[in-house]
Amino acid sequence: MTAKNMEDLVSLCKRRGFIFPASDIYGGLKGTYDYGPLGVELKNNLKAAWWSAMIYDRDDIEGLDSSILGNRLIYKHSGHEDTFSDPLVDCRACKQRMRLDKLVKAGRCDFCDSVDLTEPRPFNLMMRVNIGPVLDESSYAYLRPETAQGIFINFKNVQDSLSRKVPFGIAQIGKAFRNEITPKNFVFRVREFEQMELEYFYKPGDGARLHEYWLNERLKWWYEQGLSPDNIEVQHQKKEELSHYSDATADICYRFPHGFDELEGVANRTDYDLGSHSKDNDALGVRAHVQPNRDSTVKMTYTEPNTKETFVPCVIEPSCGVDRGVAALLTEAYDEETLENGETRVVLRFRPHIAPIKVAVIPLAKNNEVIVEKSREVYSMLKRLRIGKIELEPGGNVGKCYRRHDEVGTPLCVTVDFETLEKEPATVTIRDRDTMNQIRLPISELEDYISSYYRR
Ligand code: ATP
Repeated sequence: MTAKNMEDLVSLCKRRGFIFPASDIYGGLKGTYDYGPLGVELKNNLKAAWWSAMIYDRDDIEGLDSSILGNRLIYKHSGHEDTFSDPLVDCRACKQRMRLDKLVKAGRCDFCDSVDLTEPRPFNLMMRVNIGPVLDESSYAYLRPETAQGIFINFKNVQDSLSRKVPFGIAQIGKAFRNEITPKNFVFRVREFEQMELEYFYKPGDGARLHEYWLNERLKWWYEQGLSPDNIEVQHQKKEELSHYSDATADICYRFPHGFDELEGVANRTDYDLGSHSKDNDALGVRAHVQPNRDSTVKMTYTEPNTKETFVPCVIEPSCGVDRGVAALLTEAYDEETLENGETRVVLRFRPHIAPIKVAVIPLAKNNEVIVEKSREVYSMLKRLRIGKIELEPGGNVGKCYRRHDEVGTPLCVTVDFETLEKEPATVTIRDRDTMNQIRLPISELEDYISSYYRR
């Protein structure tokens, strides 16, 4: 089973320290969330898995961390200033504002069902900030609405400094900001979020093959993070839905509690991006329709070392949201199981590499100094394995500890009990989250057991 409604997830996330509404003590700030101690582990594990798959497991992608603040010319030439807007409608009856393309029922207000809506009006989603001491119309910059533009404007820096040959990619993880009209569905649609974006540069002509290749790579990766193929649907945008520069876009949609919705987009953006940011772009044979650029100081071209052919590279962009990834993992992992004694237990069945806490060490008796001391030794030993967060419980009610760790998805609990002290060699029990089976193992074998569990 997966989570059927958002409320279960929201309440578990708050109760157990995954995700809190931001600015909460001052009445909140719509569309913003804070990740708590377990949420930040979960999010970091997801980002680490993506970074490994992109950077460490391959030899054709480089990493980048570009700035969040951007010169407004970036967003003039990227097209965001003119086109990064959603058509909005206002409801005359209840005064709510909504995105036209996201109305639950076409032509009707989402809040009061009225049909008395205004004509659609564009609304730019970018957030402006003033830079420097003078607050005037010329001193503003944008908080980036996507990480991608930072990659495009650094194309030559990366390519030149690492002598990269096309095809190659640049990957980046970082914050993005959008002034969403109606933030909703928990962390699915927020105003401050993180993206994991790859821009894969290629020679014009190879787009269709690479687009299919990257779509399959990205699907495979999401399955490896634990999402079930049954809960994923690929939606290919129809020709008339595509942006003017895109040759093909496929949305990887996940079955969130609110329904199937976009988790990641995989787009063939042709030579539009580098073409738009290039100096003298009207003389470079760019295929996409781009506005002349008289501001850029760099030609975004690539010259093949053997043939000396020069061209503006095209790009395939797999772009996903970390927060939507976290929401999908939580939805997928959530399970309520009825036990033999009639009680229900809530379990988050995360894959081991995703779980926020890797092992919990539980002393069976919190007042027994020898047991507590032995637990502390086991805890220090496991911490040295560097597999992630290990937690030492204060101990006492072991059943309660198991329940808490089931609920936050800890794959293994190690319990130090009276038998540990009585026999030689000293042993502990290891309890498996999913099967609830327990095995007894000498402490001397624990390190190997746990490291191979997390290596598999
Ligand atoms: P939507 O149609 O849902 O607004 P989009 O098509 O505008 O999304 P993209 O611009 O393709 O989204 O952004 C790439 C990815 O960034 C999305 O697939 C999503 O995972 C994430 N993302 C975009 N907007 C938000 C948001 N407001 N909150 C959380 N994640 C977002």
